[in-house]
Amino acid sequence: MDFAGEHVISVDQFDVVKVERLFAVADGMLPYARRQRVTRVLEGAICGILFFEPSTRSRLSFGAAFHRLGGQIVETTGFAFSSMAKGESIYDTSRVVSGYVDAMVVRHPEAGAVGEFAAATRVPVINGGDGPGEHPTQALVDFYTLCRELGKRPGSLGGATVAVVGDLKYGRTAHSLTKLLALEHQIRFVCIAPPELQLPEPLVAALRERGHRVEQTEELADGLRNADVVYATRIQQERLPAGLTLDGVQDRFAIDAALYDRVCRPGTVLMHPLPRDSRNNPSELSNDLNRHPALAIFRQTDYGIPVRMALFALVLGVADQVDATARDASWYRPERFGVDDTKPMLP
Ligand code: ASP
Repeated sequence: MDFAGEHVISVDQFDVVKVERLFAVADGMLPYARRQRVTRVLEGAICGILFFEPSTRSRLSFGAAFHRLGGQIVETTGFAFSSMAKGESIYDTSRVVSGYVDAMVVRHPEAGAVGEFAAATRVPVINGGDGPGEHPTQALVDFYTLCRELGKRPGSLGGATVAVVGDLKYGRTAHSLTKLLALEHQIRFVCIAPPELQLPEPLVAALRERGHRVEQTEELADGLRNADVVYATRIQQERLPAGLTLDGVQDRFAIDAALYDRVCRPGTVLMHPLPRDSRNNPSELSNDLNRHPALAIFRQTDYGIPVRMALFALVLGVADQVDATARDASWYRPERFGVDDTKPMLP
């Protein structure tokens, strides 16, 4: 299975075989992501990172992943500092940058805009999030995390219950992840959200058509019962239409340690694409869960590196050459990244 030269715009491009290939390559990236080994397989290659919306995780993890393969990045952030502020079209921008780099990662506030970048170039373009549309690489990282946490391979999650909580309407990660999980057999999706923020109807219909069970509820505690995985999301304040007031919604859908211990099955995995909105107390997943072994959110961000390394290696056609340039790393690395981590790095 070869992805060389492909754009990665939507999770719709993936089937189980392709996901398996990606995850196998990502598994092979773990020694590099764990800083045990160093590879130079992309030495000489340059990636353009063009982010026209705020980001911490995606932008830095794409950059770190490319660097860990031995490549380099050039980047621009925000409209104000790019020529798009002077009226340059997506077509022109994409074509210009294509002359400078070997791959591009683009984030843009409008759904479909990253697809437009891709349509103007033969250099592989990766969608780093297009407004309320999709965030395919986040979904791939989420799916990879979910498989590792549950000890399963893609295609073997049939019968699992996945509770998705929060802003399922404007949250693109919820769209991409539910679409990707639809590749499995008979998932039970429990969508916990106020009616104004429920999963878009066409997506619900598509999931049901593929044989999955979709339940929609506003009752957080009830919805969490029997879940294998809980995927909490942030209310996408920046995308809510003017006039839509959702007072108290954040509190109603917040999960803390007491609620987890009261209603969740032992072992229920807690995930979140992050950021947690910590301007509110409690956030979607309370800080009192930070030392809880069920909290997988930082393992999830850590897995962003091997999965994004794998994607770059595949779209640039070097997945089978990664080990050829490898050597051991010799610098200090901690056993665990975070002070509250319950597991060693990248388990
Ligand atoms: N970081 C994720 C995204 O870019 C989730 C979020 O912002 O809530 O979509």
